[in-house]
Amino acid sequence: MAEQQEMDRVCGMWIDMKEARFTSNYKGETYYFCAQECKDKFDQSPDLYMKGFEGRTI
Ligand SMILES: [Zn+2]
Repeated sequence: MAEQQEMDRVCGMWIDMKEARFTSNYKGETYYFCAQECKDKFDQSPDLYMKGFEGRTI
């Protein structure tokens, strides 16, 4: 399994890092999103998505 995937923190979808078209940088980390809409939500209130995420089950 060489595929690298990152989770879209807004909607919880898995994003293929090679095909990701919507990314955002926050505190030195790159985050991946499935759509512009998710990226916008994250950009508006990143802290909201940093918290409350770990306890979420998909
Ligand atoms: Zn999304």
